[in-house]
Amino acid sequence: MFATKPSPIQEIKDTILDKAKVKLFIKREDLLEVIPGNPHISGNKWRKLKYNLIEAKELKQETLLSFGGAFSNHIHALAAAGKAFNFKTIGVIRGEEQKALNHTLTFAKEQGMQLHFISRSDYREKNKTDFKEKLQSQFGSFYLIPEGGSNQLAVTGCKEIMDEIDPSMDYICAPIGTGGTIAGMIAANKTQQKILGFPALKNANFLKTDIAKLLSIDQPDSLPHFELINHYHFGGYAKTNRELFSFIFDFKDKQHIQLEPIYTGKMIYGIFDLIKKRHFPKNSNILAIHT
Ligand SMILES: *Cc1c(COP(=O)(O)O)cnc(C)c1O
Repeated sequence: MFATKPSPIQEIKDTILDKAKVKLFIKREDLLEVIPGNPHISGNKWRKLKYNLIEAKELKQETLLSFGGAFSNHIHALAAAGKAFNFKTIGVIRGEEQKALNHTLTFAKEQGMQLHFISRSDYREKNKTDFKEKLQSQFGSFYLIPEGGSNQLAVTGCKEIMDEIDPSMDYICAPIGTGGTIAGMIAANKTQQKILGFPALKNANFLKTDIAKLLSIDQPDSLPHFELINHYHFGGYAKTNRELFSFIFDFKDKQHIQLEPIYTGKMIYGIFDLIKKRHFPKNSNILAIHT
């Protein structure tokens, strides 16, 4: 069920790469096609949902419930996947309902997702048992997917990204939000390729603990062949500046690949900066995941 063709890998051409004598490739997970013609179900959000949907079907659950902020890509993908695969979906959204829904929530609603807004303080309680019980008495039985979609089954799904990457790649880079995606990549890394994670948020060292937990590894500092690259968060989650936007604009112009400012824009900016600083040895093959 849900088999997909490998997402395409594209080489990037730029004089900065030639000068540093490295090659850069982008794996276009944004073009991953689950349902032909449906661009809303793709990328790491699909990789994370896949085995959760299979599990929910096996458990005969008809409703999927998850959590997210008003701009959550996970909520967006869950709503689309729910509609496509005949699940009811409930999105528990952080913060009070605004008069006009933003693009993400408008889309989610159009896909049939039921939106349930809760205060920021209630949202912090979302992983507690009695909070879940309250939701069950309100909505009935559901299959729960955590915020950002990152659980064990998400890790299983993200391992499949690595199956589509050949051993000639020396460095594999991915942006990090909750760490679910990169946890799968670390788990599936059989050839000792170096995995570089670019957090979208500030003070992100706790992510090592979160990733280790997802992988049932006791020592967060001994994640194999993994490095956290902490200098490209641009001030924190969803923080941006002119330099980042102009980088994303130029990249689109030259490479015809659209990045976004939360995750992939920051990572690709970071990779180019590291290349300019000669962080990668000559003749390195670097692959970035367009999550
Ligand atoms: C959610 C998201 C991420 C972060 O993935 P995690 O598994 O939460 O680390 C990265 N890139 C994009 C485009 C995303 O939407």
